[in-house]
Amino acid sequence: MSNLDDVCRELARANRILAHEDVLDAFGHVSVRHPDDPGRYLLSRSRGPELVQPDDILEFTLDSEPVVPPTRRLYSERVIHGCIYQARPDVHAVVHHHAPSIMPFVIAGVDLVPVFHLGATMGTKAPFWDSRDEFGDTSLLVIKPEEGRSLARALGSHAMVLMRRHGATVVGDNLHQVVFRSIYSARNAEHQWRAHALGGVGPLTAGEASLAAGHNLQPGPIERAWEYWAGRLDKTEALVAAATASQAAARARPTARTTAHKASGRAKRRKKSRR
Ligand SMILES: [Zn+2]
Repeated sequence: MSNLDDVCRELARANRILAHEDVLDAFGHVSVRHPDDPGRYLLSRSRGPELVQPDDILEFTLDSEPVVPPTRRLYSERVIHGCIYQARPDVHAVVHHHAPSIMPFVIAGVDLVPVFHLGATMGTKAPFWDSRDEFGDTSLLVIKPEEGRSLARALGSHAMVLMRRHGATVVGDNLHQVVFRSIYSARNAEHQWRAHALGGVGPLTAGEASLAAGHNLQPGPIERAWEYWAGRLDKTEALVAAATASQAAARARPTARTTAHKASGRAKRRKKSRR
């Protein structure tokens, strides 16, 4: 199996993990820079992330054009990925999502701040981007290249950008890191909101956030978390596969009533033939 096959399999799995952990739902997407060509990236065709399989992964140029003419529908917001890879050569994976815990912050325009050690992986600040500032009334979707470039400018050198009335875009050095950062920044939003409801939010200091992020973004914690999320996903997928197989077997098996009915038909026929 080539490295590219491995990356496509991991990317499909990242889609399903992020859906299973409630960061993605029917919408949102995750991409990774091509392992052999930094001028390309890999992204699924337009599909609910929970359903994405390695065969769904397509290759794009940094202008977000498919390398092979597509036979299947593509994500309309794919320019987010290409524009960020162009603006940030250090970025190797991107997640765009509308996680429920982030939405109150982007609707209210309230700053998201690191409130616990794992949340520090979002960075000390997540800047806002408002499509209204440069583009006025839009569908809110980032579809035009100029919109993607504007979003990438707002992201700057940060790890995450909050998109007013829309969602968030998160970047990372690699796929496992961006999944870690996406899940824990969404959890951070949930904790910040609940702490606020209790009466007060005491965020980490810049020094604490930097030390905590430095610790948690090491391979050890990231791989430990990936193994945990992948294990949870495997269990759910195994349960679904077992339930589907058992339903199929039940449909194929003749029911007791059908068997009894057939047996009585055979008995009647035998009786008739003896007359
Ligand atoms: Zn979106």
